[in-house]
Amino acid sequence: IWSCDTLEKAASFVRARRTPICLPNYVAGELKLPSSTSTAFIDSHEPKTGALLYRVPCAQPEDIDEAIRHAKLAFQTWSKTSRAERSRHLRRVSELLQEHRELFAVWESIDQGKTLERARIEVDRAISNFSYFSTYILHEQTAARVVDGVALTYEHRSPAGVFALISPWNMPLYLLTWKIAPCMAFGCTAVAKPSEITSMTAYLLGVLFQKAGIPAGVVNIVLGDGQTTGAALVASPSIDGVSFTGGTQTGIAIRRSTAHQIRKHLSLELGGKNPTMVFADSMGPVTRDRTIRIAGSAAFENQGEICLCGSRIYVERSIYSDFVRQFTEYVREKYVLGKTVGAVASWQHYNKIRGYLQLAAEENATFNLGSVPAPLDKDDNRGYWIAPVVLTDVAPSSRLQRDEIFGPVVTISPFDTEEEAVRLANDSEYGLAAVLLTTDGARMRRVGEQVEAGLVWVNCWLVRELGTPFGGMKNSGTGREGGEYSRDVFTVVRTLHLPAS
Ligand code: NAD
Repeated sequence: IWSCDTLEKAASFVRARRTPICLPNYVAGELKLPSSTSTAFIDSHEPKTGALLYRVPCAQPEDIDEAIRHAKLAFQTWSKTSRAERSRHLRRVSELLQEHRELFAVWESIDQGKTLERARIEVDRAISNFSYFSTYILHEQTAARVVDGVALTYEHRSPAGVFALISPWNMPLYLLTWKIAPCMAFGCTAVAKPSEITSMTAYLLGVLFQKAGIPAGVVNIVLGDGQTTGAALVASPSIDGVSFTGGTQTGIAIRRSTAHQIRKHLSLELGGKNPTMVFADSMGPVTRDRTIRIAGSAAFENQGEICLCGSRIYVERSIYSDFVRQFTEYVREKYVLGKTVGAVASWQHYNKIRGYLQLAAEENATFNLGSVPAPLDKDDNRGYWIAPVVLTDVAPSSRLQRDEIFGPVVTISPFDTEEEAVRLANDSEYGLAAVLLTTDGARMRRVGEQVEAGLVWVNCWLVRELGTPFGGMKNSGTGREGGEYSRDVFTVVRTLHLPAS
């Protein structure tokens, strides 16, 4: 696996195997398969072909206990290492990832279904996760002030302990490292669990940690599903905190299973159903192309499998039909299946999206682009391909407008006034992100400050600086991550009052 740094090499590696590879856990610095005879295996298929790619052994409670034990042991020394030393380790990981960028991108593309180009962007972001926190930790500031009667009052932070880091399948390496890098930087240790659907780059990351000489037990990676492995991991009383990214229903389950463990730090980054608001002024001759391009990428980047994707577009009525026509044409040309659009992540997900498109047909929505995809048998080798779908005439109450479909499907609806645009945008249980397309400076702030979303992008999308707070409102999550916000997740703070004499 480690030498397959082109799509061709990786494909022939997979084809040459009679039996699928079984991915090991990474525990205490070693790659090993779970020992339990009760281990269940999950098959992971290649989205672009439907072929069986590898098998994931579901780590059992005894495997998880072992990983947590090593993480606890490592915490005793790692939490006391100097910032300079932790920074050096993170820097080394980012350098090695850079060196093996193409290898990680190739396997991410094969495993998740995304295009190679998109996979490269995400590997670059994973590299930035390590380089950013490697620098951050060296320049970390804490607040200190002088208060009457005491000489100095200051915040002292210490690492919070052993964390469960759990990530989803849509941006596997990027999201897992978004948790691992700050966890390591702030002196904590981890038992990380990637999605069972996309575990390949997590396995490669374990190999890379070995090469980087990361002390044994600082990061452990266990593989497995949510019901067995994930649930046992988060509920363990030996886990001091959970940083989770995934669906809202899973976030609720995690909150419930940890409700009696008040001391457990909990950061939940959950689902979204994000609005893109297009005002008439943004469709003038100078900005029209930009408006369409941003609305298009927000909807269809990574097949719409990004939690921040803008899947509900609201357009001012005076430009509504022009927008629908031009947007549809743009998407038809730009988002081409197999070129700029990859396959969706799994057979189950294909069926979920297909179900929503059947519903669209039943509800008489207009398919301006795309159609209901054909049914697909589980062992079909055509791959999980769904071409972009642009829907209009969808009622606000439809599940198409309310549920997170998480695929290449967008709805477009008109609005008459700015107030109505804000009301429609906020008419959702979710509050993760929003895009606002307008040239009116006053409106940018006025609307931007009323939209119920943790991230609001005006005339841009997916712009990220790793120090800014990342997270959602409402059912999109609780807690923020990024820079000092990640520090809040991974440290405990005490306030010290030193006497004047
Ligand atoms: P999911 O919730 O099904 O699974 C996410 C992870 O949780 C997986 O590793 C899974 O094995 C694990 N898991 C499942 N049940 C568990 C349980 N009971 N206890 C512990 N772990 C459990 O989500 P998914 O389908 O993999 O990912 C898609 C979802 O992730 C979408 O809702 C998307 O919006 C969301 N997401 C959110 C963000 C964000 O930053 N807010 C980013 C990416 C994806």
